[in-house]
Amino acid sequence: MSSHVYDAVVLGAGPAGEMAVSRLAGQGVKVALVERELIGGECAYWACIPSKTLLRAPEVRGEATRTAGVAEPGVEWSAVAAYRDMMIRHLDDSAQETGYRDQGIDVHRGQARVTGAGRVDVDGVELRTERIVIATGSDARIPDVEGLAEVGFWTNREATTLSEIPRSIVILGGGPVGVELGQFLARFGTRVTIVQGAGRLLPREDPAVGALVLDILRDNGIDVRLGAQAVRVSREGEDRVVYLEGGETVSGRELLIATGRAPRVGNLGLEALGIEVDPRGLRVDERCRVSDGVWAVGDVTGVLAFTHVGMYQARIAAQDIAGQSAHADYRAIPRVAFCDPEVAAVGLTEQLARQQGLDVSTAHVRLADAIARPWTYQEDPAGELGLIADRARGVLVGAWAVAPLAGEWIHYAALAIKMQTPLAVLRDTVAQFPTFTEAYLKGFEQL
Ligand SMILES: Cc1cc2nc3c(=O)[nH]c(=O)nc-3n(C[C@H](O)[C@H](O)[C@H](O)COP(=O)(O)OP(=O)(O)OC[C@H]3O[C@@H](n4cnc5c(N)ncnc54)[C@H](O)[C@@H]3O)c2cc1C
Repeated sequence: MSSHVYDAVVLGAGPAGEMAVSRLAGQGVKVALVERELIGGECAYWACIPSKTLLRAPEVRGEATRTAGVAEPGVEWSAVAAYRDMMIRHLDDSAQETGYRDQGIDVHRGQARVTGAGRVDVDGVELRTERIVIATGSDARIPDVEGLAEVGFWTNREATTLSEIPRSIVILGGGPVGVELGQFLARFGTRVTIVQGAGRLLPREDPAVGALVLDILRDNGIDVRLGAQAVRVSREGEDRVVYLEGGETVSGRELLIATGRAPRVGNLGLEALGIEVDPRGLRVDERCRVSDGVWAVGDVTGVLAFTHVGMYQARIAAQDIAGQSAHADYRAIPRVAFCDPEVAAVGLTEQLARQQGLDVSTAHVRLADAIARPWTYQEDPAGELGLIADRARGVLVGAWAVAPLAGEWIHYAALAIKMQTPLAVLRDTVAQFPTFTEAYLKGFEQL
């Protein structure tokens, strides 16, 4: 068995692992990267990048349709699919591998398994190191519904690399993945049904957000079933039929599972280090340490399944490995669903803030009543902003917005939350007229 020695070894080359490697290499650490599929991970090939690319063309058409004086542009699926293929590098990561090798970073292709303290096996090659960074990501979580395996289904992988638009689809799950992919497909002509177990869409967010998104999807012609549990699926002709608790059925040519993510912790050999493998993710401390000499970053930690969170954790772990002070702070992490209009949130929801015992005050701004910018976009504009503040400290602790470009201007609230900027300072801060950002001022005045 051949053996290599490194200062650090990173398991998994998704955005979290790639950030860890580049930071560690930049610090002069001799580091190796292990990847069993494609360098770039879920995000680059089957998640963020293809989904945002696929949503863009119908979004532009939607904007054009709502803008006075613009004729509705056509959208051509084959050209959109070709652009998506380019964006996901035709599922070819050879340039990424070459890039690492050119920087003097070893890439080991294969399944990584920890075999003991400081030892990782990659399909028969042994890597020895005092520092292991686990960045193995997550898979689609498959619910326990009778008949699923027999009828076959899509996960995010098939949905984001699809070559033909299906005639109809049932989507199990009304979180960000179900909402985004549902809207994309509906706008390309698929008859979409979303079956959501919770009583609202995007249940992690404020109830007002779920209600607004429900209106948006129903306007797109999507049949949304809330509080609906799928109990069984079967194949009838070319369709997949989903039986809901209570006896109703919904059907579609395809079936997409979008019921959350499961951290990839299986077969990693962590028992060899005495690490308890929690199915919700590897428990990390504020420095992203799992145990002595072992760090975990990204979706595998189960903290918040976002690329920017994984990359942040990777920076924290690299700082810790460099002996610098490191402390992950998740209070101001933006959460965006890239539907049209965008849904963005940051910090605490009102419910969470109350659960934490805060004396909460809230503001709710209807953009059309408060600011000019939405009117320059369209007649009768929708869009809302919600703010959550801690009265005792006089600071913002949460915000959400459903409006054009909300994923951009939510960062104003993110910085205010992170910096604990006094509300008095926020009220005295001037935003450009006419922008969506101006809505904050109305909200701060309400607070
Ligand atoms: C449809 C969809 C859309 C999304 N859109 C967004 C978005 O717009 N913005 C956003 O921030 N997030 C988005 N996400 C979430 C985002 O994709 C993840 O948070 C991100 O990919 C996590 O990065 P990661 O590096 O932790 O893991 P991954 O991207 O899953 O990468 C982990 C890598 O580890 C490798 N690996 C696993 N086990 C082993 C092993 N034993 N040995 C060797 N290699 C291994 C895998 O092959 C993989 O390449 C989306 C997710 C989905 C499903």
